[in-house]
Amino acid sequence: MKDFIAGLPKCELHLHIEGTLEPELKFELAARNGLELPYATVEEMRAAYTFDSLSSFLTIYYEGMRVLRTEPDFYDLAMAYLRRAAEQNVRYAEIFFDPQAHTSRGVPFDVVIRGLRRALLDAHAQLGVRAQLIMCFLRDFQAEYAMATLLESLPYKEWIVGVGLDSDEKGNPPAKFAAVYERARQEGYLLTMHCDVDQDDAIEHIRQAVEEIGVDRIDHGVNILEDQRLVEVVLARGTGLTCCPVSNGYVTDSMKAEGIRKLMDLGVRVTVNSDDPAYFAAYVQENIEALHDALQLSREELARLQRNAFEITWLPRHVKDAYLTEIDAYLS
Ligand SMILES: [Zn+2]
Repeated sequence: MKDFIAGLPKCELHLHIEGTLEPELKFELAARNGLELPYATVEEMRAAYTFDSLSSFLTIYYEGMRVLRTEPDFYDLAMAYLRRAAEQNVRYAEIFFDPQAHTSRGVPFDVVIRGLRRALLDAHAQLGVRAQLIMCFLRDFQAEYAMATLLESLPYKEWIVGVGLDSDEKGNPPAKFAAVYERARQEGYLLTMHCDVDQDDAIEHIRQAVEEIGVDRIDHGVNILEDQRLVEVVLARGTGLTCCPVSNGYVTDSMKAEGIRKLMDLGVRVTVNSDDPAYFAAYVQENIEALHDALQLSREELARLQRNAFEITWLPRHVKDAYLTEIDAYLS
């Protein structure tokens, strides 16, 4: 089954590019930029990656990205992920980036996006992996800062397929960003947002995302199972959920494999993703393997998870169909 998973054409839709920053590259970028790291070795740094909640993860996550300063840094970061993705037969990825995590410490927006964009173009040409960017707002900052970031992104609109919302959900509900999302939609961006697992008011946040904001997709969102009515809404709309089993295992009490199984059985377009693979020691393939170990999925079910993913991508219909045909060919 491991070989079957390895060969399966894959699609990744919940991946924070800053969460792919491996310790080795962190040391390289720190040296390049003349920065000191609070760890002596790669091993010491990895040993510090112990999280038991979203907030304990975020502390290390933001600390780590201080080494990203120049356009080549962002290029190298994205190329490193896309190389790993190509090795795992990821055919297409929609990649989150957090501009405010960089602009808030003085790195210009255009430095970030130009580095990422150049890597996406090179990866497509050199590795055959296609990818698009989703710009995430940090929900623990003011909505005004998110709006300013949205306006700053407009000259680069052709390079960004949609917007997302991440970081600390506690006390930062979707409704806080209603005006930002309204404007983003007017500008032609597609909409997703994190509804992290087992948060306070999780169901109310999912309700706001689905009914007040009208998102096109939900990142995580497994708590929707607690509200039959909302499940019916996403089923009727075909809204996809981007789940991240290994990440769940780090920041909540379990991988939530049973919940993912239940969503699959209900016909919800659920998908498997890696979230922050450098911090959770699992890229998309290892996430699929972990879910398979927990649920003993059939080949058909493993393929269905990838079909769901390609189906809910923000790609034109004919491009989706070409990827779905690759899955059909692989299965037969
Ligand atoms: Zn995430």
